[in-house]
Amino acid sequence: MFLSFAAAASGANCVISDYCAPCGVCRQTMREFGKPEDVLIIMAKSPTDYVEKTLEELLPMSFGPDSIK
Ligand SMILES: [Zn+2]
Repeated sequence: MFLSFAAAASGANCVISDYCAPCGVCRQTMREFGKPEDVLIIMAKSPTDYVEKTLEELLPMSFGPDSIK
């Protein structure tokens, strides 16, 4: 399983109001290196407040190396 973390912080007083999801370029880059169902993306506001999604959920019907025969 390929594991990726997305995090944002700018100091002790930083408050992240929403989960930090990877942009489209990052999603496609991760797609180049792993199967969508095997790549787990953890998006966190804090160490205890986070969501986990597979790349398949964030980039459905994607194009990758296995798309070329
Ligand atoms: Zn990005």
